[in-house]
Amino acid sequence: MLTKLKEIVQEIGQIPVLDEALACVAHRLVEVMNISCCSIYLADYQNKVFELVATDGLSADSVGKVSIGFSEGLIGFVGQKGEPINVPDAQTHWRYKHIPEVEEEAYHGFLGTPIIHQRQVLGVITIQDKQTRKFGEEEEAFLVTLAAQMALEIANAEVRGVIRVNEPRHLGKKRQSVIFGVPGSPGLNIGLGLVPEDRIQLKDYVLQRSDDISEDIAVYREAVLATKDDIQELTERIAGTVPQDVASIFQLYEQLLDANSLGNEVESKILEGWNAPSALKLVVEGYRNQFAMMSDPYMKERAIDVEDLGGRVFAYLVNDKVVPEVDVDSIILVAETVTAAMLAEYPMEKLKGIISLRGSGNSHTAIMARAMGIPAVMGLSDVPLAVFNRYPILIDGYSGTIRVNPEEAELKRFKRLIVEEQELERIIAQYADLCAITRDGEPLELLINAGLSADLDASYLALGDGIGLYRTEIPFMQKERFPSEQEQVNLYRTMLKAYPNKSVTMRTLDVGGDKPLPYLSYEEDNPFLGWRGIRLTLDHPEIFIVQVRAMLRASIGFSNLRIMLPMITSVSEVKESKRLINQAFSEVQDEWLAEGEVLKRPEIGVMIEVPATVYQIPALAEQVDFFSVGTNDLIQYLLAVDRNNPRVSSIYNNLHPAVLAVLKQIIDQANAVDTPVTLCGELGADPAAIILLLAMGYRKLSVNGHNLAKVKWVVSQIDIVEAQRILDDVLKQPDSLEIGEILNLELENMGLGGLVRAGK
Ligand code: PEP
Ligand code: MG
Repeated sequence: MLTKLKEIVQEIGQIPVLDEALACVAHRLVEVMNISCCSIYLADYQNKVFELVATDGLSADSVGKVSIGFSEGLIGFVGQKGEPINVPDAQTHWRYKHIPEVEEEAYHGFLGTPIIHQRQVLGVITIQDKQTRKFGEEEEAFLVTLAAQMALEIANAEVRGVIRVNEPRHLGKKRQSVIFGVPGSPGLNIGLGLVPEDRIQLKDYVLQRSDDISEDIAVYREAVLATKDDIQELTERIAGTVPQDVASIFQLYEQLLDANSLGNEVESKILEGWNAPSALKLVVEGYRNQFAMMSDPYMKERAIDVEDLGGRVFAYLVNDKVVPEVDVDSIILVAETVTAAMLAEYPMEKLKGIISLRGSGNSHTAIMARAMGIPAVMGLSDVPLAVFNRYPILIDGYSGTIRVNPEEAELKRFKRLIVEEQELERIIAQYADLCAITRDGEPLELLINAGLSADLDASYLALGDGIGLYRTEIPFMQKERFPSEQEQVNLYRTMLKAYPNKSVTMRTLDVGGDKPLPYLSYEEDNPFLGWRGIRLTLDHPEIFIVQVRAMLRASIGFSNLRIMLPMITSVSEVKESKRLINQAFSEVQDEWLAEGEVLKRPEIGVMIEVPATVYQIPALAEQVDFFSVGTNDLIQYLLAVDRNNPRVSSIYNNLHPAVLAVLKQIIDQANAVDTPVTLCGELGADPAAIILLLAMGYRKLSVNGHNLAKVKWVVSQIDIVEAQRILDDVLKQPDSLEIGEILNLELENMGLGGLVRAGK
């Protein structure tokens, strides 16, 4: 059964028109399950009906014509209950509704299952039998499994380029598609989607109708000619150097390209109304599927040839595509994973947005985007890159929404929102040079998270009270080997020099998780629970010692270095780290001090980011000089939710009662043992959280430079006594939903409503 299931799912994934794919499912299910009838209905939320879109067994004429209300008949009942309904005789069931057009009088046994994606009913699939009988448990389980698989295919159909037949909004080339991802970095922007290196493949292409059929035919013929020339050249180049059977593949290519072969078929698809790349995709994928299903291994292999050939022609078709008339100075960078290196390739002033198919709101890509103040949307792993490439895009980093090819009215609305946002930024900017101080005069130490990009940090340095977190791993990630001690010394010295009179907290290497080193590759099933941060560097003391030596050497002549250890779980790790730091200290003292120079012993601290450390604060305090709360990881480990996984991003909740309880416990315990605490996770820049943190007693926050002014503005509107009243109220709430509502209301009352609206 599993094989059958896989086959069916694979087949539907390969058919580019959704209605045809669903018809194929209905047909295959009748065959595989040996039943009389299978039908599929899709939900139409606008009209609140389930539309019959495919059947094998009911009247074929009723497809596309019959709809059943959400609260009507057995279909509506399945949708309402959200679970399978298995009845021996549908016609005697109290919810049965007779619809003469479908001609189902002969059927009695009925099993219907909802097709659900992310808690939303997308449709219903039914099987029916002529006999009066209840379907067996196995049959029910099979249908439920298939429905779950189909849900994914249907939910992502449009963005994957699979479309409904005759759907009016698909008929014009300039259709708008709205794609929902995970918010990565707030902000609104307009730009042209750009996928680096044009890594678009035929399989990813989104089907589109033709604007000009004769133009598409001409373009296609040109692309074929160019491909033929390439193949001719290849044939000549390899003649005599490869065996004949390899050379004969190129002959096959030439034959396939002939007008009588692929050519005519592609052209007739264009005449049906598809544009050239779509027509090519439909024909090539049709052939590919036919070959792939053949049992003769030789013929099976030909599927690869057809695909390869299609890819060659496709490259000519899309590379010559005219860039639409949008401002190409405004780039929305799109990639599987947007990396720091990729960002460096584009001038900052042109980069207007980031779309990273992988990752989530707390991935380092998103943190980097926030540090740069560029809107970002993450977590669209089922969407092909081609959907975005060279199309005008509206990116909304607050809600995680992307509009590709926006309609005129939407573009206007968006431009208005951008103006409102700029107005808010203007207000915030007035606070940039001020000190962080509450309305009732309580000062706050506001530090900077640095290290994601050296040139970024420089402009913010004057506005903060020091560096609260210097992430050292980025320079390690950008190289092809570990940076040498001297290279590290130069880098760290620049940081220490920039802030001679303020503290600079350097974190030792925290690679692993979503920050792998390209030159230290290893596979782990759960990288965030694996060989990360201090776990890796304690296993490699040679890396750790070189890094600490570099920090210490860089600090000669300064007194502002603090060293911080990431991913600490136990006191023994701190002791071992301190032993190595002491060793490095003695070495630097012996080897590098000139006459009269002194090496100041740096303060040492640990990140509180593994929940275990929350229960170890007194013992840890005996070992270290300070704590820094890394809420990005603390929340992920406390709530058991991968900070990088978009599927569970809604569970990653800054305001979860457990998160608040832990944060309060940390500050209370640290105060009790007189050990200073900074909070350096992204939570420190969340306006709602700032109210609570101040009330709890946090007085040192470290945030990315781009957020400094915003945080200063928020802090300036808070009255500590008021904040404590809010905290008391919030701590009594059972769930983050209620907590969010209370805090949004309070932000409105404080005159910070603009931030709440922007955050929606
Ligand atoms: C954290 O975990 O909160 C933190 C500041 O470190 P990073 O985001 O680099 O893991
Ligand atoms: Mg961390």
